[in-house]
Amino acid sequence: MSKVLICLDPGHGGPDSGAVSKSGLREADVALTLAEKVSAALGKYDGVAVTFTRDRNNSKNYPAPPEGLRKRIAYANASGADAFVSLHCNSGGGKGFESFVAGNCSAFSKKMQAVLNEHILAYLKGYGIGAHGTAAKVDSQSARGRIGVLRDTKMPAVLLECLFIDNPNEEKLLRDGNFLDGLAQSIAAGVASAFGLKKKATPQPVQPQTKPMHRVIVDGKPVIDSAYKDKLLAALAKALDKYQDKVEITRR
Ligand SMILES: [Zn+2]
Repeated sequence: MSKVLICLDPGHGGPDSGAVSKSGLREADVALTLAEKVSAALGKYDGVAVTFTRDRNNSKNYPAPPEGLRKRIAYANASGADAFVSLHCNSGGGKGFESFVAGNCSAFSKKMQAVLNEHILAYLKGYGIGAHGTAAKVDSQSARGRIGVLRDTKMPAVLLECLFIDNPNEEKLLRDGNFLDGLAQSIAAGVASAFGLKKKATPQPVQPQTKPMHRVIVDGKPVIDSAYKDKLLAALAKALDKYQDKVEITRR
């Protein structure tokens, strides 16, 4: 069976920093870090492969949108990816998470958006973060031209606006590698749920195969320190001939 191919699109890059927080955190960098973590998290599932619209090596030379966007769309369409997931952070004064699909998108895009939102919001709840208004939005609810990646990609496509980079509390989280690991895992879990991917089997520690042994205590004194079940009854009968009051058998 061929693998499900996910095209991850870390927003911005090259001369396009995306939104920049007061302290200098760039959306393009957060998006790329998150994409790499999502890729690693998807690696824990069977039957899935990942491709990127940009990476660290080429992001410096990456043309700024709209050329960049056109190239990303062309790349995604040529890649034969089964789904396109664009990663961004929000800005402009607000808080929380939201996601977008194209207004005329397929039912599968809507399903993917719903399961991604479900997993991501469940994770963010642990940080007291919820949706920015309605979590599931369509492109007409965004003024941003970058939503074009949703309209012109041929495969199911969702764009995630992961928190507000200009919100001090959320910016702190976007700088936190552990937080991003968890966020990436929730995104991977959403993708896995949409495509029915299963986690790779993890090797179980081998349990030593030993037969249970027993200790026999008669009148408070151990008379048999350890015996297998088949020898236990004979040993116990012998002990019962000598002692009368209290016989205990414990597994050891
Ligand atoms: Zn963005």
